[in-house]
Amino acid sequence: MREAVLAIHGGCGAIPKAELTPEADIAARAALRRALEVGYAVLTGGGLATDAITEAIVVMEDDPSFNAGFGAALNRAGQHELDASLMDGASGRAGAVAGASRIRNPVRVARRLMEASDPLLLIADAADAWAAANGFAVVENAYFTTHERREALERMLEREWVDDISPASERDRHGTVGAVALDTHGNLAAATSTGGYTAKPVGRVGDTPIIGAGTWADNRTCAVSGTGKGELFIRLAFGHEVHARMLYRGESLEVAISGLVHGELVALGGGAGACAIDRSGNVSLPYNTEGMYRGWIRQGASYVAIHET
Ligand code: ASP
Repeated sequence: MREAVLAIHGGCGAIPKAELTPEADIAARAALRRALEVGYAVLTGGGLATDAITEAIVVMEDDPSFNAGFGAALNRAGQHELDASLMDGASGRAGAVAGASRIRNPVRVARRLMEASDPLLLIADAADAWAAANGFAVVENAYFTTHERREALERMLEREWVDDISPASERDRHGTVGAVALDTHGNLAAATSTGGYTAKPVGRVGDTPIIGAGTWADNRTCAVSGTGKGELFIRLAFGHEVHARMLYRGESLEVAISGLVHGELVALGGGAGACAIDRSGNVSLPYNTEGMYRGWIRQGASYVAIHET
């Protein structure tokens, strides 16, 4: 039996340290801890990595501290379009939804699509309809809206009206939740869920539901979930690139993933981060922004942080 390990991120769009209220700090850390505990309980019960990451992500989708599910970012039309995916490193199977507007927990539907295996990725109304037909909870789009996200959209649109070209805050530009796990059977899995970014164009799809970009898992190498400027993750085939550097170049997880987050992604001007785990249970949580909600848990030890701590 292998030692089970779970690692998560809640997006690299952390509120700057000076602006993070004590209440928001406590709420985000508590949610991260809850996600870790819920997912880890699945692993210690002998459950699969795919199930552990699904349960960990559902906790974060249901928590407004993060940009996924309830509390997701609004697009420029004031609507939520949600993306999610999940990949099983044992079988190489994957499932995903993009632009869903009514699925309460998109990661659950991605998980089920993985089992169905064909189709792998469903979009927009078709994803919502498939979820409803398969018994998943569907809600009105307004269910996902919080006061904070409405204010963020107003802030972003106002910046455009006044032609403010200074960079928007990382908080308004980024956010996503992700989880990776190694289960006691030696399987790796990765999942990611997001609302994208505030004021994104209608119909815009980022890296989160794109297998090989925002999400990747392969038992031979690693499980990876990304957060940050999705267009760049797609162009770099980020998740698959980490895997490929490990498999073909023999790089360690840390070297492969840090090379991308602190190398190519910085060069391309993209705020980015990730959570990842390799087949031996080594965890990597790199980010090149001011902070990233993140944590991991393994037997007898756990860790949660937002900025340096
Ligand atoms: N990667 C997500 C996207 O581009 C957003 C983020 O993580 O900041 O949709």
